[in-house]
Amino acid sequence: MIAHLPEIDNAIRRAARLIKAARKAVVLTGAGFSTPSGIPDFRSPGSGLWTRYLPMEVASLTTFRYDPEKFFAWLRPLASHMLSAEPNPAHLALAELENAGFIKAIITQNIDLLHQRAGSKNVIEVHGTFNSLTCVSCYKQYSSAGFMDSYIEKGDIPRCPDCHHLLKPDIILYEEQLPQRMWMRAKKFSSTCDLMLVAGTSLEVMPSASLPVKALDNGAHLIVVNQSPTFIDERADLLFPKDVADIIPRIATEIFGG
Ligand SMILES: [Zn+2]
Repeated sequence: MIAHLPEIDNAIRRAARLIKAARKAVVLTGAGFSTPSGIPDFRSPGSGLWTRYLPMEVASLTTFRYDPEKFFAWLRPLASHMLSAEPNPAHLALAELENAGFIKAIITQNIDLLHQRAGSKNVIEVHGTFNSLTCVSCYKQYSSAGFMDSYIEKGDIPRCPDCHHLLKPDIILYEEQLPQRMWMRAKKFSSTCDLMLVAGTSLEVMPSASLPVKALDNGAHLIVVNQSPTFIDERADLLFPKDVADIIPRIATEIFGG
């Protein structure tokens, strides 16, 4: 059912009841979870990052390899947004629910670390992380922290202090495979959960979009909170076509108060 006002309070209560009754609730988040924190969805038209470059073209392994200046110039405003952003009320509510045992895992397509900064522990980053960089030549891994100031302020491309080759952020680019260990965990949690909350993702990017199908195949309940439609809406027990920063804290309040 689609939750329209005034039925929305009722739907919030039903969502809270489903999550409380679940033994293994798992959350899948995407770009829409971080837009209330001011991080643009780089796949969305009008985000500013789209207008200059096609993401599929620039956020690719090919561009990184053959035109790293272009790649790092494109990534720079996104990196700046990510480092200055703060977790929003939806991030904080999920962390509280996880710490209280209502949620077992958060599978995220985001690379911005906001779930962790909000206090979430079991975060499965299927698209990698912006927290570290790896040398393309010697494969030594570095924390991003030491490189970000000069990159964001001056545009200095991060290079390996040992061998001076490029450092690649540990984010998954187009043409790249998902990190196997993370992806196996994501699949395992999805195919064994009894409730999945899909929040802030339009499920347009494969293979992450297949995860809710695995949950449904296991007989899990499905709750969708996303402002635009997803292909799986009609199979959801509850559908909130709304901002995550509005809905998720209200569900959490209901769970803790009800
Ligand atoms: Zn190196």
